[in-house]
Amino acid sequence: GTDAADPVVPFAQPGSLTRVFAVASGKGGVGKSSVTVNLAASMARRGLSVGVVDADIYGHSVPRMLGCEDKPTQVENMIMPPQSYGVKVISIGMFTPGNTPVVWRGPMLHRALQQFLADVWWGDLDVLLLDLPPGTGDVAISLAQLVPNAEILVVTTPQLAAAEVAERAGAIATQTNQRVVGVIENMSWLDLPDGSRMELFGSGGGQAVSDALTKVLGARVPLLGQIPLDTRLREAGDAGAPIVLAQPDAPAAQALEKIAVGL
Ligand code: ADP
Repeated sequence: GTDAADPVVPFAQPGSLTRVFAVASGKGGVGKSSVTVNLAASMARRGLSVGVVDADIYGHSVPRMLGCEDKPTQVENMIMPPQSYGVKVISIGMFTPGNTPVVWRGPMLHRALQQFLADVWWGDLDVLLLDLPPGTGDVAISLAQLVPNAEILVVTTPQLAAAEVAERAGAIATQTNQRVVGVIENMSWLDLPDGSRMELFGSGGGQAVSDALTKVLGARVPLLGQIPLDTRLREAGDAGAPIVLAQPDAPAAQALEKIAVGL
């Protein structure tokens, strides 16, 4: 709840010009963080002022994927976020020593998220992307309380079992009254050298989530794009240079670019 001591979250104020996107998924490993950093890098390259909050307490892989090795600094009462490719980055991993796993409970996570949103010197952002933990946990609920105007992007694979859990992560919006902007299907297929496509994880998951959420929410939730499997996407992430910047001609990069432009 709100009490007088709660800091003001500028992004939640009426008239805020920052669009806040929460990138959600049903389960881990579907490419949520990869999608987040590539959308951010693509938008920053187009000249938008972009920030990313890595709120994935289980993964916090965003800094590595963006090649961001710097730590935040403190200036008076504000936290200055490091930047990479013009993207300002704050990660929960920047505040935990070494590789210690985060075992924070709900109230601490809420405080951390609140600080990331209120005590970080973001400047005038056009876009703030949040990489949420997978599932329908405490962080998603806290975000809905702190930034009710945040728009949700749901990432899924084509696999129908994965789509069902992704649908639940999106359907949380019925309780929080948030807008679900769309669904992104990742790992949709693998392009083979003979020109054919191999659907490693089946097909139809993205469309199924789009259809189900459209029905549940009573508003159209489009399938925004399908991103193929590409070794270069993983390599780019491992190397800290997002594929949209490192290999812009790759089909996976173009799919991501198209989604970023359409948002
Ligand atoms: P999540 O954030 O959902 O846990 P990640 O973005 O960390 O998922 O992706 C999991 C792994 O899969 C990473 O190693 C990433 O590089 C890889 N990956 C994600 N999407 C693709 C893709 N389209 N093609 C190849 N590898 C991918």
